[in-house]
Amino acid sequence: MHALLVQQPSLFDGLAATVELDAPLGGLTWFKVGGCADALVTPKTTDALSTLVTRCHETGTPLRVLGSGANLLVADEGVDGVVVRLDAPCFHTVEFDRDGPAPVRAWAGADLMKLVQECARRGLDGLSQLAGIPASVGGAITMNAGGAFGDTAQAVSSVGMLTHSGVRSDISAAEAGFSYRHTNLPRGIVLWADLALMSGDRETIRARVKEIFAYKSRSQPMADRSAGCMFRNPVEASTGLRTSAGRLIDEAKLKGFSCGGAYVSPVHGNFIALREGGSATDVLAVAAEVQLRVLERTGVRLEREVVVWSRRGELP
Ligand SMILES: Cc1cc2nc3c(=O)[nH]c(=O)nc-3n(C[C@H](O)[C@H](O)[C@H](O)COP(=O)(O)OP(=O)(O)OC[C@H]3O[C@@H](n4cnc5c(N)ncnc54)[C@H](O)[C@@H]3O)c2cc1C
Repeated sequence: MHALLVQQPSLFDGLAATVELDAPLGGLTWFKVGGCADALVTPKTTDALSTLVTRCHETGTPLRVLGSGANLLVADEGVDGVVVRLDAPCFHTVEFDRDGPAPVRAWAGADLMKLVQECARRGLDGLSQLAGIPASVGGAITMNAGGAFGDTAQAVSSVGMLTHSGVRSDISAAEAGFSYRHTNLPRGIVLWADLALMSGDRETIRARVKEIFAYKSRSQPMADRSAGCMFRNPVEASTGLRTSAGRLIDEAKLKGFSCGGAYVSPVHGNFIALREGGSATDVLAVAAEVQLRVLERTGVRLEREVVVWSRRGELP
């Protein structure tokens, strides 16, 4: 019998959820590689999600949340424990026209790109800076996704969470402690975000979304199998300001460098992409070599932005 099914109390008994054991995860990520999760669980309700989180907490079962898999590499060996997908309709809902200063509540499973388009269509301003970023709302909040035009935090007034022990809590943007590609949210699952969007001119917002999308398409290999920027932009010691990791990689003449099926994109030095037949191990090998060569050349140790899941937990 599967290791997860012999646990007492059973994790999945009577749970309103779809459970797939030894589920391949690669197809659910942008890299399209990696091994299986012991269990991939898609709860049908927030109560079922809450029960699952509590049971995992009580049994010490590792639990991870999968968004749209755009910032994630799953190791070839796969991941232990439970991976949750917020794919049921209740987690995809976007509530418009709510009263108060944050008129939109977007649930964590909602698609960010569609949300940006829909807000523009409704003449709601405040999300155009995120045009073209592939993400679920939960993933965008967790990573504080953003770029040259701004970040997710700018639009968020509060975040609804289910903590790792199964407790619901509402967290203000100030408490969430958003910073560059990071938050201080407690460990757990983002359920929704309340967005403080303003009414604006629909055509102006749409034009802005189009312009930012075009900029991204020109400067990044959007159609390749990658997870966006592999490394965080490091802080320059002399100025205290962030500098482009892509530029450091470019200056180290690493564009096009490859190991197995993985390569540094010739379009953008901070994107590591995969060819057909490549593996997660290839991506990690390229990332390690890039880190080493940039360190040797500049003394800067690049930190990975892409999250890596493995059976040894989240790799540093
Ligand atoms: C072509 C391309 C372009 C990109 N461009 C950008 C860019 O311009 N700017 C940028 O910031 N990023 C960019 N990225 C990276 C990616 O889009 C963002 O990091 C995005 O926020 C990831 O969201 P996701 O839903 O795919 O999260 P996933 O990749 O599924 O997960 C990432 C992390 O978030 C956690 N997570 C996901 N959902 C939840 C939840 N509900 N609750 C708690 N934790 C959760 C996961 O457990 C994991 O640790 C790009 C990626 C690609 C492939």
